[in-house]
Amino acid sequence: TEGLKAAFGSLFRRTYREIQAIQQLSFTLEEGAIVGFIGPNGAGKTTTLKLLTGILHPTGGTIEILGRQPWRREPAFLKQIALIRGSQPIGGPTELTVLDSLRFQQLLYEVSEADFLKNLAELTEMLDLEPLLQRQIRTLSLGERLRCGLALSLLYRPRLLFLDEPTLGLDVTAVNMMRGFIARYNQQTGATILLTSHYMIDVEALCKRVLLIDHGKLAYDGSLEALSAALSPYKLLKVTT
Ligand code: ATP
Repeated sequence: TEGLKAAFGSLFRRTYREIQAIQQLSFTLEEGAIVGFIGPNGAGKTTTLKLLTGILHPTGGTIEILGRQPWRREPAFLKQIALIRGSQPIGGPTELTVLDSLRFQQLLYEVSEADFLKNLAELTEMLDLEPLLQRQIRTLSLGERLRCGLALSLLYRPRLLFLDEPTLGLDVTAVNMMRGFIARYNQQTGATILLTSHYMIDVEALCKRVLLIDHGKLAYDGSLEALSAALSPYKLLKVTT
C-alpha cells in the first residue's frame, strides 16, 4: 500500500541554539501498530513529536511521513495525522460547546456530513461523550477535556496518531478507560499510534514494540520484555511505576 509502511523519519537532528535536543534518530513505523516512545525527562520525546507533526523544522537530515515532509504542513498531510497532548488536549477556543467545536472541526478538515455523523456516533459511544456535547469546553475537567480532544482529532480519521502522555493526571478509572479506548480505537480503525508515557504499565498494556530515546538518540528499538535485559540501567524505569 502507498504509504504508511511509510511513516518514517530518517536520521534527523534538531538543535535549539547550542542544545542538541535530537542528535540522530531514525525509525520506521508499521501501519496499524501501537508503538511506545519512552525515555527520561529531557530525552527529546516532545521535540521528536513536534518534528514528526511539522511544528518544528529539523536542523539536519530528512523526515518523511506518509510520503511527505511534515514541516511543509501541507493540508493533505495534516489531515492524515493528529497530535494529542494529555496535559493540554484542546488548543482552540474554549467558549464553544463540545458539539460546536466538533462542527467547527468538521469545516476545518472538510469532513463530509455522512462521515461526520458516522464518526461522531462512534466516538460518542467509545468516549462516552453524550453528557459532554452541550457543555462549554472551558467548564470541562482535564479528563473530560481529553475525551473531547480525542474526539476533535479523531473526527477526521487520521491514519497516524501521536499521543503524548495520554494518562497523565487522570484518576484510576479514567486511566483504564483511556487504555481501553486506545486499544479499541486502534483495532477498529487500524490507525497507527505512537504513544509516549512515563508509566511503563501503559506501554506494557498497549505496545508490542517500544522505542527508547535517551539524550536525543535512539537507545533501543524492540519488545518491552527484552528492554530491561538489553539495557540494565533502564530497569529503574520499571521500578518507578
Ligand atoms: P519530558 O519527558 O520531560 O517531557 P522530553 O523527552 O519530551 O522530556 P524534550 O522536551 O523534547 O524532552 O527536550 C529535549 C531537550 O531539548 C531538553 O534538554 C530540553 O531542555 C531542550 N529543549 C526543548 N525545547 C527547547 C527550546 N524551545 N529551547 C531550548 N531548549 C529546548
